[in-house]
Amino acid sequence: MTEETTAGEDKPNNFIRDIIREEVGESRHETIVTRFPPEPNGYLHIGHAKSICLNFGIANEFNGRCHLRFDDTNPAKEEMEFVESIQQDVRWLGFDWGKNIFYASDYFEKLYAWAEHLISAGKAYVDDLSADEMREYRGTLTEAGRNSPYRDRTVEENLALFRSMRAGDFPDGAKVLRAKIDMASGNINMRDPVLYRIMHRHHQKTGDAWCIYPTYDFAHGQSDAIEGITHSLCTLEFEDHRPLYDWLVNNLPTPSKPRQIEFARLNLTYTVLSKRKLIEMVEGGHVNGWNDPRLPTLSGMRRRGIPPEAIRDFASRIGVSRAAATVDMAVLDHCTREHLNKVAERRMAVLDPLKVVITNYPEEAADDLLECVNNPGDPDAGSRLVSFSRTLYIEREDFMEDAPKKFFRLAPGREVRLRYAYFITCNEVVKDAAGEVVELRCTYDPATRGGDAPDGRKVKGTIHWVSAEHAIKAEVRLYDHLFAAEEPGASGNYLDDINPGSLTVLDNCFLEPSLADSAEGQSIQFERLGYFCADADGSAERPVFNRTVGLRDSWAKAQTKT
Ligand code: ATP
Ligand code: MG
Repeated sequence: MTEETTAGEDKPNNFIRDIIREEVGESRHETIVTRFPPEPNGYLHIGHAKSICLNFGIANEFNGRCHLRFDDTNPAKEEMEFVESIQQDVRWLGFDWGKNIFYASDYFEKLYAWAEHLISAGKAYVDDLSADEMREYRGTLTEAGRNSPYRDRTVEENLALFRSMRAGDFPDGAKVLRAKIDMASGNINMRDPVLYRIMHRHHQKTGDAWCIYPTYDFAHGQSDAIEGITHSLCTLEFEDHRPLYDWLVNNLPTPSKPRQIEFARLNLTYTVLSKRKLIEMVEGGHVNGWNDPRLPTLSGMRRRGIPPEAIRDFASRIGVSRAAATVDMAVLDHCTREHLNKVAERRMAVLDPLKVVITNYPEEAADDLLECVNNPGDPDAGSRLVSFSRTLYIEREDFMEDAPKKFFRLAPGREVRLRYAYFITCNEVVKDAAGEVVELRCTYDPATRGGDAPDGRKVKGTIHWVSAEHAIKAEVRLYDHLFAAEEPGASGNYLDDINPGSLTVLDNCFLEPSLADSAEGQSIQFERLGYFCADADGSAERPVFNRTVGLRDSWAKAQTKT
């Protein structure tokens, strides 16, 4: 695992690893401790995967440990469902927190004691301003804030009020506890930030034990300090919060002082990675749940058939820096193809069937089993036997009635190779009343079975096929970008950029019989069509397959051009 995620011919840049390596070289730490700190208010997405790979990757590389900590300070938005899905997703990605699973709510008692500690030191006060008033008093980027009229309450009064807040004497929003720092600070986060708010809410871990909850800012840095996190790695938007975290740690008897290092968050083309927007997409019914294969959530990507190896490879390739950049979705597709090309077995499947009758093939033939290679790149994958018969399906687009010279597939009077089977020649085209081609009548050359023509004649095209008599019927779902715009919402509401053609359902597909018992999530290459994976919606009678990604690699191509 360690090797796989961190080794690489030339390691992509990761300035955080460089910093830690230097510190380790100077023996500044006994053990490197990082953490992944999700708030359980949604499912994880590929942006989180970047953070997971970074935090667990660093811990693995330096023989340290990485904690999984739920930042569960806001019971209004958090749910057990999310706590569970997050654990499942981190494990699926290939990381193990061992015994190190924690919850910020484990520290509520300690955080409360520290809040009293600040009050006693004259560094925190209970404020009665309403949310609107507080906003008004806070000032702006260019204008200093003003002190709250409640700022100079005595320590005794503050302690008594804070205890009453905890005892449930006040309704939601009536009072807050604020740090007493500096209302004129150039950094708005330092203008007496709120540390505690009243929320008469049931918490998924602590039940009804509390009616006041610490803010994220009051809980986060202290949780890191309690756990002995050496490196608190977070995204750039927390850079302006660092002075506050430092202030808190310096004014509290915390057991350690973590070093916070910020890095740029991942942005991907043609999708959104904001939790707020993902929640809105799911709740608004714009997609079919959190694991919709079009979503950039890890559960959606898993269902789509994207392997965790591809996501780890992706995270490693994009590196870690402070420069904000948007990564092309094609990079992820490339990583997916590269992995699946190695591991996915090949099968034949026809998504848009056209019937072919081999007129010179015996009506009552004995089983004609052809040997098909499972993975040409992996000799250990072996081969399988596939039945041939008189009636076949081929892909409709592999036939053209008025074919130009450069069309090397099937056309009237032309000969092609059926993959792993025989050469066939198209002699007759059968149409229905509407003029649509419904059947091709062809002849085959028995001498070309599984190989070339003994007389040395060549064919330019090879097409895939399935035997109509043996094939199983299936539904296949094709996915395109969830958004039609490269940067959704760049020119208005992101919802207006949803791609109406992001899902195509093909319900008349025919698959090689061996695909009937594909395990859910198993990846397969349908020859010439792309990588697919069995979906949970399927049954023995009606398997469902998701297209993970097509075969054409636009990103690799672009790389060789430059
Ligand atoms: P919120 O807006 O609700 O805070 P969030 O995406 O930051 O959303 P968290 O659950 O707080 O969600 O995230 C957990 C960790 O994942 C944080 O350390 C955060 O910095 C990191 N993270 C979130 N989104 C990205 C992203 N796009 N790229 C890299 N890291 C991310
Ligand atoms: Mg966050």
